[in-house]
Amino acid sequence: MNYIYSAVSSEKKFFGNSDPVQLSEKYGTPLYVYNENILRSRCRDLKGLISYSNFTVNFSPKANGNLELLKIVRSEGLRVDAMSPGEIYVNKMAGFKPEEILFISNNVGEDEFRYAINAGVKISVDSVSQLEMYGKINPGGKIAFRVNPGFGAGHHEKVTTAGQNTKFGIEMSSIPEVKRILKEYNLKLIGINQHIGSLFMEGGAYLQSTGNILSIAKQFEDLEFIDLGGGFGIPYRKQANQARLDLKILGNKLSELIHTFVSEYGKTIEFKIEPGRYIVAESGILLGKVYATKMNYDIKYIGTDLGFNVLVRPVMYDSHHDIEIYRKNGTPSIKEESVRIVGNICETGDIIAKDRMLPEIFEEDILGVLDSGAYGYSMSSNYNNRLRPAEVLIQADGNPRLIRRRDTLDDIVRNFII
Ligand SMILES: *Cc1c(COP(=O)(O)O)cnc(C)c1O
Repeated sequence: MNYIYSAVSSEKKFFGNSDPVQLSEKYGTPLYVYNENILRSRCRDLKGLISYSNFTVNFSPKANGNLELLKIVRSEGLRVDAMSPGEIYVNKMAGFKPEEILFISNNVGEDEFRYAINAGVKISVDSVSQLEMYGKINPGGKIAFRVNPGFGAGHHEKVTTAGQNTKFGIEMSSIPEVKRILKEYNLKLIGINQHIGSLFMEGGAYLQSTGNILSIAKQFEDLEFIDLGGGFGIPYRKQANQARLDLKILGNKLSELIHTFVSEYGKTIEFKIEPGRYIVAESGILLGKVYATKMNYDIKYIGTDLGFNVLVRPVMYDSHHDIEIYRKNGTPSIKEESVRIVGNICETGDIIAKDRMLPEIFEEDILGVLDSGAYGYSMSSNYNNRLRPAEVLIQADGNPRLIRRRDTLDDIVRNFII
């Protein structure tokens, strides 16, 4: 047994018929490993969120746009958002039909609107000027817009995406202007959407924002959908037994709000949510290898191949990810110590876990970064001309399958004009 410190992944049988050391030997590190069963169960959690029949869950693939994962999400009956033509393209490749895709645009050019219009997907705009641009290109067309009710919520200011200090949405005082442009270009308003921020662990702000968007919705007669946004949080501190978001309580309260609204509105219009993180975060563990350990002026450093080109969340948002330790010979560590786990990028800020008490870590150990399925690979880069990692899926039958190969040096030079 080579699991040294692995309570979370062991309990979930995360690695199926393999173990992390075998996987790292077979596929190399850094390596993103995903578990199909967990992914499917998270899809089902949210599909069952509310007791209202015209309810759809739009996965937000910016959290993780791997083609095979998108196919699984689709097979669970979810739909999908897109933030760019690239996401529209990949979503279609995964089998989503145009009408199952909502393009939530933000500061795009006419070419992107044209791309989305030709693709036949639903489109939402993010400002009055973009509404006007759309109207000129596609008079008589259908459109949705993103509201900014004036407050937001999120785990970090960079991901608080509504409120008076963010670039997102159309403010309340601009609604008359929206109505004027809709009329001028004979546009049909099919929906309104919002997304107040990412990673809430209690439902309060989400419910409040739902109340808000519902009161805005009443100002428009013939909506086809209302999209309440994503942001559903997951417990990143599982080793400290952090509680889960209580979907049951949230779901019951949301259902109540929606049923009341629908009876007043007089039409069972579609309600959507657009979760990213909740669907994929917990189905991913990032594996990396320890290549060096050292003391540097009283700090113990663990040097790994987990640079911030692979997982940027800790550096970008000060995010916490629990760390597990797997060891080939299985010899237990006898002491715990405070360590700083760092990567191989030439920057002092390249820290994946800062000053953590962990069982002693040795060279050759494999580390697992938990809950890295969301905003992991999708935010990875070739910074320092490093290769982006491979991705492996632990299938429902427990067997691993490569679902994206590691970059090669050729990938890095592909766009040079030689
Ligand atoms: C990022 C994003 C989401 C998904 O956010 P999560 O916190 O991952 O659930 C949903 N909607 C919009 C508009 C987004 O930009």
